[in-house]
Amino acid sequence: MLQLKNIVKDYGQDDQKVHALQGVELAFRDSEFVSILGPSGCGKTTLLNIIGGLDAYTSGDLVINGRSTKEYKASDWDTYRNHSIGFVFQSYNLIPHQTVLSNVELALTLSGVSKADRRRRATEALEKVGLGDQLKKKPNQMSGGQMQRVAIARALVNDPDILLADEPTGALDTETSVQIMELLKEIAKDRLIIMVTHNPDLAERYSTRIVRLLDGRIVDDSAPFAGSEVEKALPKAREKAEAERKKGKKSMSFFTALALSFNNLMTKRARTILTSFAGSIGIIGIALILAVSTGVNAYIASVQRDTLSSYPISIRKEETDLSSFLGGGDSTETGDNAALGPHENDAVYSNPMLFRMFNTLFAPDRKENNLTAFKAFLDREMNPETAKTALSQYVSAIQYSYAMPMNVYVRNRDGQYVTCDLSKAFSSAAGQVGGNDALSNMMSANLTALNLWQEI
Ligand code: ADP
Ligand code: MG
Repeated sequence: MLQLKNIVKDYGQDDQKVHALQGVELAFRDSEFVSILGPSGCGKTTLLNIIGGLDAYTSGDLVINGRSTKEYKASDWDTYRNHSIGFVFQSYNLIPHQTVLSNVELALTLSGVSKADRRRRATEALEKVGLGDQLKKKPNQMSGGQMQRVAIARALVNDPDILLADEPTGALDTETSVQIMELLKEIAKDRLIIMVTHNPDLAERYSTRIVRLLDGRIVDDSAPFAGSEVEKALPKAREKAEAERKKGKKSMSFFTALALSFNNLMTKRARTILTSFAGSIGIIGIALILAVSTGVNAYIASVQRDTLSSYPISIRKEETDLSSFLGGGDSTETGDNAALGPHENDAVYSNPMLFRMFNTLFAPDRKENNLTAFKAFLDREMNPETAKTALSQYVSAIQYSYAMPMNVYVRNRDGQYVTCDLSKAFSSAAGQVGGNDALSNMMSANLTALNLWQEI
């Protein structure tokens, strides 16, 4: 027994909300033929989907055999859809590449019935709808009426309590429609059929109850099922539900699923081959990209290592810590960095950055290296016989340079000897021109780079 209690269904969000159902109060007997009539868009399909568990309601309650679906788990819904409900659609929804028999059998595969049993029951269902001699045909070799019969057979093969039909005759001519309605009427003798239709004549002729829907509300019910009648039917329904629950649910066995998938692959061989081909291209592509990227990364890492290892380390006799004026220097001495750290309220701190920079430049914090001892150390370590450490392993070359001026003199046109060192030549030239010592010093300092002589 099925009860809808103030069912509301809204589609969409906030401002674009569609109120498909606005409080539907309805109950169905265990066996009757209910037609739902109403203009397009009034919520008929929505109502059918909610009854069939294909769609969730927004509020209200759907009570199945006395049990509220609010406490239904996903598995409960599955059992309900698989065992209690049969669907018939306007567009048949048959699988085109499978035979009529397989199409009907498929509905049983999901319920865990053995193969021989499946075949027998599918054949029976097809015989019931008058298609006993067309088992091997494919759906596209059949007429609309025949396809709808197959769909009805498929809905019936599970022996459901409820058959839901959404405009089953919508795409059929009058004569075929009548045949289908006759068939449905026959079926409705021992189960509940809820049929949505556009055709009031057919509804009136064949169904036992007509419910009219308008804008998501029930406006008319020709044979309401409510009050004491419902109360009387409830205990029996609960008993039935309990018995069914005890039986436990059946599901498709693993091997059936495997065989079904294999069968599906084999029926569409070309597609399967193409898909596998495309799939392998994808997998190979990804593998290739991964391989190349890993290789390039490794190469970049090795190049970086090599470059850094060949980078020279130069050690001079005198070293100035240039970073001292770039990095801020010693803050305790001048207190200038206090501005960056915690400081007292309303206090003003100086940050004599320029002063510090010049200070470091002109009175640099020099450090002396003892190069004589260091050279002795290197000489010892680079000689495999005297080495005490593995230093030579990390060193590819050592170059020493000495601050020795090259005093080379040449004779000029006037027969005088002048130094060949460009920097000195320029400084003496500058001295002659302006007698400006500072200028000549600066020039000579700049020109040392142009020295003709270089150690190698
Ligand atoms: P009927 O079957 O009576 O023609 P439906 O139940 O299909 O009507 O639709 C009822 C209303 O709900 C319509 O206004 C429709 O636009 C709306 N509707 C149906 N399905 C959806 C959906 N998935 N999303 C948004 N609106 C929907
Ligand atoms: Mg519809």
